Amino acid sequence: MTAMTHTEGAVLTVDLGALVANWRDLAARHPSGPTAGVVKANGYGLGAGPVAAALYAAGCRHFFVAHLAEALAIRDIVPGAMLAVLNGPIPGTEPGYVAHGLTPVLGSLDDIARWAGRDVPAILHVDTGMNRLGVDGRDLATLRADPALLGGVSLRYVMTHLVSAEVADDPDNARQREAFAAVCGVFPGVARSFANSSGIFLGPGFASDLARPGAALYGINPTPGAPNPMRAVVGLRTRVLQVRAIAAGESVGYNATWRAARPSLIATACIGYADGWPRALSNRGHAIFDGRVVPLVGRVSMDLTTFDVTECPQIVPGSWLDLIGPGLPVDDIAGSAATNGYEILTSLGPRYARVYLP
Ligand SMILES: *Cc1c(COP(=O)(O)O)cnc(C)c1O
Repeated sequence: MTAMTHTEGAVLTVDLGALVANWRDLAARHPSGPTAGVVKANGYGLGAGPVAAALYAAGCRHFFVAHLAEALAIRDIVPGAMLAVLNGPIPGTEPGYVAHGLTPVLGSLDDIARWAGRDVPAILHVDTGMNRLGVDGRDLATLRADPALLGGVSLRYVMTHLVSAEVADDPDNARQREAFAAVCGVFPGVARSFANSSGIFLGPGFASDLARPGAALYGINPTPGAPNPMRAVVGLRTRVLQVRAIAAGESVGYNATWRAARPSLIATACIGYADGWPRALSNRGHAIFDGRVVPLVGRVSMDLTTFDVTECPQIVPGSWLDLIGPGLPVDDIAGSAATNGYEILTSLGPRYARVYLP
């Protein structure tokens, strides 16, 4: 936002206007109940503070994080909003929840037992197929047989999480929908929370009293294989430190994995895997300069990445190369790196100058 940040070697731009537009878009697609903002992992790497503040200003009043510490970091930014901790209350942390008005997501009989009698509303996480967290069928039978177990817990929502929501025709989706409907029958009158980003696009059968999108807020495509309905939120560019001419036959980078087939110009840029720029992009990725593609050559190293700029002699030390942005969607970069957009965004490290566009 200030001129100073542009002196850095790599700049991450977060378009908060696009983020808010994405939240409103998702909320409009989920008329059955409010739409939360999932801001775990530092707002998917983009900065939980600015992200939560922008969503709150837009009217979002339900937030999810993964850890207690993540909740405490934004508690004051979202006053009065529900702020829920997905990973659940690790034993001993209960007083922190009470003191700061946080909502625990209870995912086991043990969580329930430790939470009974505390006058704080909780979310009950029911497992319908993920087998990570959440009470399972046997636990539910136990709860049904002994209603006193849940007697002291005030339930705000019953929630479950989809296994394959981004694969629209995966039979797991309908199976989980049926399982969740059956579970909710055990908790009459308790509000439900179901869909993540992709779940919102599965249609009204996946609607609930509270949607929990994360990825789509940040511009990740919730409908892979179809055009991305979301606005791009993230831009990343890096500065060229040096440009050198090398002869045909010379190699570039660790282990000489790339060798020039012709006399070449190599630009060395100020970004590496320590910045979350994936090493898996070695000899695979590319950047864009002035609308032209420049291939990433050689290994991505810790702090540096090299590009073949032979076709772009106007690139000089100090030039900026775009790595995420128009023509370089996060999902494509993830595809080249054999991962998903979530991992790309959450890997973006703390080294960048960060610019938040209003
Ligand atoms: C991360 C998470 C979400 C958000 O999922 P997206 O796919 O990013 O929309 C929702 N619910 C739970 C339980 C999660 O862990």
